Amino acid sequence: MSLKIENLHGGIGGKEIVKGISLEINPGEVHAIMGPNGSGKSTLSKLLTGHPDYEVYSGTVLLDGEPILDLAPDERSRKGLFMAFQYPCEIPGVTVANFLRAALQARLPEGKTLNITDFYKELYAAMEKLAMDRKFSSRYVNEGFSGGEKKRNEILQMAILKPKYAILDETDSGLDIDALKIVANGVNSLKGPHMGILLITHYQRLLNYILPDRVHVMVNGRIVESGTKELALKLEEKGYSQFEEELAVQT
Ligand code: ADP
Ligand code: MG
Ligand code: MG
Repeated sequence: MSLKIENLHGGIGGKEIVKGISLEINPGEVHAIMGPNGSGKSTLSKLLTGHPDYEVYSGTVLLDGEPILDLAPDERSRKGLFMAFQYPCEIPGVTVANFLRAALQARLPEGKTLNITDFYKELYAAMEKLAMDRKFSSRYVNEGFSGGEKKRNEILQMAILKPKYAILDETDSGLDIDALKIVANGVNSLKGPHMGILLITHYQRLLNYILPDRVHVMVNGRIVESGTKELALKLEEKGYSQFEEELAVQT
């Protein structure tokens, strides 16, 4: 059982951005990918979830042994892969609760109906665990959400959908310290023996709050170093300039 990425190459419009990434995330592990802007971190997450604009050139991705690169994004999601939408669209008229209900219903076998009482029980339990006000669940999805509220919504989706593997791409824009803490507290309260997490970040300081099992540094589409959490501390101190050679060829 694992999310196994084997020598993945991919990009956009014929331009190779991800240049041979191999990684294996076991259930219960948190892997962090760090790297300077433009190194291909977000492209990697889009290849994994099947964003239609991005192209896989070669390599495989196995979810618990099953190849997923030929599957549509929603099929990958039903198999247990989760990725939060960084800039999710607003859905006026659809509440957070109804959105999650529909997502769960879509995962049930045909003819089965979600038990609404159980659903709300679970929703409110998750919200309590994440220290979220219940009123949040009756707001319309993303309508007027602050940065922090979008993060809470992302974590709540993860709590309710209970993916086997979650990919969190914490892009460098608009994440203030409060939003970082929301993500960190959420990940810490949800992580457990059944969920593997790939946490992509530009920020060393996120890892002051989340202890990763493995840290990988990505520069110019490749993982140039992997290690334990100590690697994140080293990066904090020395920055990415230690990877000068790799940076020099990044365009
Ligand atoms: P990171 O997340 O590490 O900052 P990205 O994956 O966003 O890196 O980008 C890596 C490279 O791919 C950059 O040079 C970027 O300009 C390019 N790129 C990413 N998305 C697109 C796109 N939709 N169209 C063209 N180029 C893109
Ligand atoms: Mg970027
Ligand atoms: Mg990015």
